[in-house]
Amino acid sequence: DENLRLNLRLIRYADEQSLLIARDVSQLMRLEQVRRDFVANVSHELRTPLTVVHGYLDMIEPESMPEYEPILHELRNQSRRMTQIVEDLLTLSRLEAQSDLPQERVSLRSLLEALRREAVALSQGEHTVTTELRGRHDLLGSTKELHSAFSNLVSNAVRYTPAGGRITLRWESSERGARLSVIDTGPGISPQHLPRLTERFYRISTSRSRDTGGTGLGLSIVKHVLQLHQARLEISSELGVGSTFSCVFGGERLLEPLALAETT
Ligand code: ADP
Repeated sequence: DENLRLNLRLIRYADEQSLLIARDVSQLMRLEQVRRDFVANVSHELRTPLTVVHGYLDMIEPESMPEYEPILHELRNQSRRMTQIVEDLLTLSRLEAQSDLPQERVSLRSLLEALRREAVALSQGEHTVTTELRGRHDLLGSTKELHSAFSNLVSNAVRYTPAGGRITLRWESSERGARLSVIDTGPGISPQHLPRLTERFYRISTSRSRDTGGTGLGLSIVKHVLQLHQARLEISSELGVGSTFSCVFGGERLLEPLALAETT
């Protein structure tokens, strides 16, 4: 039966005997697929009506009815927010359906520079942004997906760190592995929240988070992109001091830097 999915576990005993445990997870996987398809379909169906709402709202001149200005402003904000949620859900569905990604050279030097520029633009001069390149290896993976994952971390760092704070983007690599860290001097996250942060829609303080304009899906997207690169997200944080979000890659994902002559 090609739909049969078994979860196999082999236990070897010291006396050369073994025990094989087979669990039928076909039903579980079918339900998971139904859930995925449902989310993908709903998101897709919501896209068109939202575009229409958004488009018409943009056509209304607030000056033509000043008494409705605050309402119009709020309607625009909310429709933008809904559009972003739908786009993020579609991104997650796409990542879940993907089993492999393009394997290309991702230049960490250019990526770090692009991320620095994004951070500066988002921060509008309110934070000090620095980059540190400790190791010249490049990564093997999808530039597009990695860029979007790292951008999510950068945008969180900017959004949650009060003005006057510092944001550091750091790439460290050796033969054994590498990590890209986004370090901020924001409010920090208390330990009980850390294990749940990458769950969909998990946010620490809903009212506070909503003000910052996120969807609650950013870290979920980061986790999925990293999984597709056999990498993991490490979060360390101290309340009142700041947070560090690190993407950790194994040595098999690293490429020796191109010789200078080839890069120019
Ligand atoms: P959101 O769209 O709410 O930012 P994310 O999935 O990106 O969603 O993040 C989940 C939650 O983790 C956020 O709502 C916020 O409470 C917390 N968080 C993420 N990044 C940071 C950070 N750099 N500093 C403090 N809290 C953070």
